Amino acid sequence: MKIAILSRNKKLYSTRRLIAAAQARDHEVAVLDVVRCYMNITSMRPSIHFRGEDQSGFDAVIPRIGASVTFYGTAVLRQFEMMGVYPLNESVAITRSRDKLRSLQLLSRKGIGLPVTGFANCPDDVEDLIKMVGGAPLVIKLLEGTQGIGVVLAETQKAAESVIEAFMGLKANILVQEYIREAGGADIRCFVIGDKVVAAMKRQAQAGEFRSNLHRGGSASLIKITPEERSTAVRAAKVMGLNVAGVDLLRSNHGAVVMEVNSSPGLEGIEAASGKDIAGMIIEFITRNARPHHTRTRGQG
Ligand code: ADP
Repeated sequence: MKIAILSRNKKLYSTRRLIAAAQARDHEVAVLDVVRCYMNITSMRPSIHFRGEDQSGFDAVIPRIGASVTFYGTAVLRQFEMMGVYPLNESVAITRSRDKLRSLQLLSRKGIGLPVTGFANCPDDVEDLIKMVGGAPLVIKLLEGTQGIGVVLAETQKAAESVIEAFMGLKANILVQEYIREAGGADIRCFVIGDKVVAAMKRQAQAGEFRSNLHRGGSASLIKITPEERSTAVRAAKVMGLNVAGVDLLRSNHGAVVMEVNSSPGLEGIEAASGKDIAGMIIEFITRNARPHHTRTRGQG
């Protein structure tokens, strides 16, 4: 097969691993920097060029689109879909998962366990909003944040009010969430491929920190998850329409709750913690499923 990887940098661990896994299985692979792809939007013969060369003839495309280039990156991916190339994750699903609020609404509609979460626009409503989500302590999150930046723990009602008012004053979109203290600064990253959790790791925040992101100094270790956690993670990925996803869970008093569904989960932490060839599993999933024009949405919606 001929596989394109949409990635800004071929030296990144995940990209390198995917290239190696594809080549080890005798596939041809090309890395395209998504912001350097350009396209013509025609109904007759949609096409994509990269550095002056026509990029037709791919059987599958693996999107590794960073949060900062979501808008352009998903447009390029949609163009590949219109050309009939099989996407590992569809553009519509990626767009969905990048909107934290929309994701939570979709997951809640399907009855998936979530931390109690609120959202408001006007500072006048803050007091009642805090009451709605059960009062302090609360976690306040910037909707545009990633890697734990813009995630704040407010221990008291007063602290929560000031932080929310400050963010709102800056016109930042935020959500306000029940603090799952019993998670003890740990979360669980479930790596989903198709209808299976192929590996799971626990990420533990460093002392004095509640955010377990590896970028915030968290440490990863292997963890055994329960059948309920397994099925929650698989269902969450399915609701988002993602074939491959990193589903982050917190263990709460009311069962496993989904914090986030990531559409470009990194491979480095999970391969190191599990010792598994996750890149190889992704390539094999593509081999089993790739067919021309095999998308749920065909770029619609
Ligand atoms: P980001 O997308 O920026 O990584 P997250 O929503 O994943 O933001 O939050 C970062 C970290 O903060 C999580 O990995 C988790 O450890 C912690 N965290 C987030 N929300 C909660 C919560 N409601 N209760 C307890 N801890 C939380």
